[in-house]
Amino acid sequence: NQQILFKSRPEGKPGNDNFQFEDLQEPECQDGEILLEAEYVSVDPYLRGRMRDEKSYIPPFEIGKPLESMVVAKVLNSKNSNFQEGDRVVGMLDWKKKQVHDGKNLRKIDTRLAPAPAFLGVLGLTGLTAYLALEKIGKLKEGETLLVSGAAGAVGSIVGQIGKIKNCKVVGIAGSDEKIAKIKSWGFDDGINYKTTTNMKGAIKELCPNGVDVYFDNVGGEILDASLQNINKFGRIINCGAISIYNETEQPTGPRPEGILIKKSTLMQGFLVRDHVEDFEAAIQQLGSWLKDGKLEYEETIVEGFENIPQAFIDLFDGKNTGKMLVKI
Ligand code: NDP
Repeated sequence: NQQILFKSRPEGKPGNDNFQFEDLQEPECQDGEILLEAEYVSVDPYLRGRMRDEKSYIPPFEIGKPLESMVVAKVLNSKNSNFQEGDRVVGMLDWKKKQVHDGKNLRKIDTRLAPAPAFLGVLGLTGLTAYLALEKIGKLKEGETLLVSGAAGAVGSIVGQIGKIKNCKVVGIAGSDEKIAKIKSWGFDDGINYKTTTNMKGAIKELCPNGVDVYFDNVGGEILDASLQNINKFGRIINCGAISIYNETEQPTGPRPEGILIKKSTLMQGFLVRDHVEDFEAAIQQLGSWLKDGKLEYEETIVEGFENIPQAFIDLFDGKNTGKMLVKI
């Protein structure tokens, strides 16, 4: 057995030296517990925030303690009447190959709905984020223009496709020509490669001639600034993520949004998926039915091997993933 400990807080971009592997005894479960074996581990940009020693909506990782994220695991042994050997569960678990757990806050997954890894992506927190943020804040109306950044990533790929289901015009922003081709293959109307575009404000204007009604922001920074400059009257901006500044050592200042927000009566609202747990079940049903009907496609970048969990996480900041980044154990 093995675990991954948080060795040191990264300065700037995380590196492999921020993680430490440690061998562990084979755990045994006591009454009320289950023995779990990790099958798929989710690596997510928000984990970078937990590596800072800062008060946030979720406690920071502690040095010398195991890291954790959402994991799909198999029940190897159960002394808990709610679980049986062979069940597959999803939940927030330590980065350990095997671990015992009391079963609280673990959800059994139904692999008839979709294969197990999908419960970390399209039917997990990223799919829920896309769907619920659009429902709660985006409130898309037919014919509107939806702009989404991080468009080829886990959240963004689902956001754009929901935009098409809702009969909107959808433009995505992503970091390579291959990713732009990919998002178009999912039905996005068009895309902008932000790495080769010098004038983002102009590029958005050209592809969104009627302006932007809803901007789904996964990246923050200069792309948010350029999107703000194209927002329509009564536009909505969903602040879902800001990966472009997660590794900054000082928070950068940019054009201040107030002027545009007031002039355009824009709603700009932060979104945290964990605030909407009561809506998860209905949202999973909706996403699952779109999957079944072939209206929604999903992509995964699956890295193999427990030893590659840190590198898979680091690679998110270089855009090495298309769709959901996962590690298969
Ligand atoms: P992704 O699958 O989108 O992976 C991250 C992607 O970000 C990379 O593939 C890369 O794509 C892009 N990226 C990396 N660095 C930069 C940069 N400097 N500027 C612009 N893009 C960059 O991750 P998720 O879908 O899991 O998450 C997307 C965002 O949503 C994150 O900011 C995350 O924190 C947030 N989030 C928020 C939640 C909430 O409840 N608020 C829940 C889940 C996610 P590319 O090649 O295009 O650069």
